[in-house]
Amino acid sequence: MTKNVALFALACVWMSITSFVDAHDDEKGSARFLANAGVLITTDQAKFMFDPFFHNDYGRFTTVPEQTRSAIFKGTPPYNNIDAIFITHAHEDHFNAPDALQYLTKHKQTHLYAPKQAVVLLSDLDGFAMIEPRVHIVNTQSLPFRLQLEELAIEAITVAHTGGQKHAHVENVVFRVNTNNGVAVMHFGDADTDPKYYSVHGQFFQDMRSNTAFVPFWFALNPDGQYLIDHVINADQAIAVHVPKELPTYMQTIAIDYFHEPGETTSILQTSN
Ligand SMILES: [Zn+2]
Ligand SMILES: [Zn+2]
Repeated sequence: MTKNVALFALACVWMSITSFVDAHDDEKGSARFLANAGVLITTDQAKFMFDPFFHNDYGRFTTVPEQTRSAIFKGTPPYNNIDAIFITHAHEDHFNAPDALQYLTKHKQTHLYAPKQAVVLLSDLDGFAMIEPRVHIVNTQSLPFRLQLEELAIEAITVAHTGGQKHAHVENVVFRVNTNNGVAVMHFGDADTDPKYYSVHGQFFQDMRSNTAFVPFWFALNPDGQYLIDHVINADQAIAVHVPKELPTYMQTIAIDYFHEPGETTSILQTSN
């Protein structure tokens, strides 16, 4: 081996070591797209899902592929050892009560956090008593909801569902879930982008910087939503979900990443500050 070749080989080894270390340092967890607004979050410390159970695509949204659904119910990796499930609201493209009951009956370590409107649907079903101790109503009232589940710090506020009067009665929860190893993830359900719904929650968003925020795609389509992403929600990265199945051409113009194909994954990277 000549000196130059040896140096080159050494440089390659050094680069591969440093890039491995960098990747390892930056990556704090991963997010896997289930469908519509459904996401699985995996970290060293915990696993949890947002809005994983639903059937209604309203003719235009994605649904969880049968194979994925079956793996979730069986607890096949990566869907094993799920600590918690978070339901943003009780619409049929986000929540199905019989599925939630079936899942929690089988997976006895999993807790569920949901607004009262979803829990009422669940409590109407036979078998609810068996899972009730692990079902937590997210009651935000005037103060943020805060609860600790072993390694998870769970926080939530209510932000109006988009659609004005038509959905004014819907309790739409925005979650911030934060793990022991410093991963904070937010999910906005079907939140509206009107700034008036956020001005009262300035402190909540300032309290903690999140690594990743899952926002409905309409956040990226209007100036109010883009302003929220850039200046209010306090997250390193926003990922749009709830993207229509037939990918609209306007999605090519949005400034943030989005999930569209069920099964897509992305890294959750270390917070910058
Ligand atoms: Zn909705
Ligand atoms: Zn929706």
